[in-house]
Amino acid sequence: MKVLVKAPAKINLSLDVLHKRQDGYHEVEMIMTTIDLADRVELSLLPNDDIRISSQNRFVPDDQRNLAYQAAKLLKDRYQIKQGVRIEIEKNIPVAAGLAGGSSDAAAVLRGLNRLWGLGLTLDELAELGAEIGSDVSFCVYGGTALATGRGEKIKKLPPPPSCWVVLAKPLIGVSTADVYRRLNLENIQHPNTRGMIQAIENADFPGVCRNVGNVLEDVTLKLYPEVAQIKDQLQRFGADAVLMSGSGPTVFALVHHDSRMHRIYNGLRGFCDQVFAVRVLGEQHSLD
Ligand code: ATP
Repeated sequence: MKVLVKAPAKINLSLDVLHKRQDGYHEVEMIMTTIDLADRVELSLLPNDDIRISSQNRFVPDDQRNLAYQAAKLLKDRYQIKQGVRIEIEKNIPVAAGLAGGSSDAAAVLRGLNRLWGLGLTLDELAELGAEIGSDVSFCVYGGTALATGRGEKIKKLPPPPSCWVVLAKPLIGVSTADVYRRLNLENIQHPNTRGMIQAIENADFPGVCRNVGNVLEDVTLKLYPEVAQIKDQLQRFGADAVLMSGSGPTVFALVHHDSRMHRIYNGLRGFCDQVFAVRVLGEQHSLD
């Protein structure tokens, strides 16, 4: 028995950090949406009790460090499953890029094993388990578009944003999310207008979405890696409607309404940047499996 599960990347349309909590986590407000760039996760039952993990991408760990492995282990231990599973990840989402690739793989494993092992858990229950693996896993269990608060695990569903192109550009560096949060100076940040973004999404107001994009981690990463700032400039110069870094970076994305402009930006960035993709926003929950 096998199941194939899609694990889409997310972008942050806005990312705000409110304060640092007693438990060491940051209290955040993030608006996230899934995009049509996805890993494919194939799950097949094993005759023994193992969890095996493989991927053709050398940056993806093939042991218990992999978030997808941790998802399988969590379900296995919690529900005392005696059956093993092979997890094969076809990696299409750039690694350590601010696109939640690992979290989305973990969420895909939770959803897929729920079916394969016949656990009958609801999405809310899977999202709660996901929070034990990582802050972005809960959002990835649902996909779609949402406001994430707390340390990122409290999810409030939003309607999909107005349909548009997303051009993603990732330079040849990986960014450590923990490092970026450590360097963030909370005294000196410009908070994005999260309410404004929610309103723009609810009103299907594309210019409003573009006006309200914002990410408090951007300045930290731009200072560390000037090439990210250069990519932002390029995207702006080629005429993107909005440009923002996703998560802790280094991926920068452009929102673009017109097809012709998307082609110009995509072609302009290729050759200048390690990985470039032009995809649509998914934004809807049902687009997952
Ligand atoms: P986020 O946006 O949630 O901060 P990210 O996109 O920046 O995540 P990931 O692609 O999830 O980062 O990878 C971060 C690190 O996690 C990698 O360097 C890798 O060692 C580890 N990792 C664990 N599991 C996976 C996985 N399934 N896919 C990719 N990386 C993984």
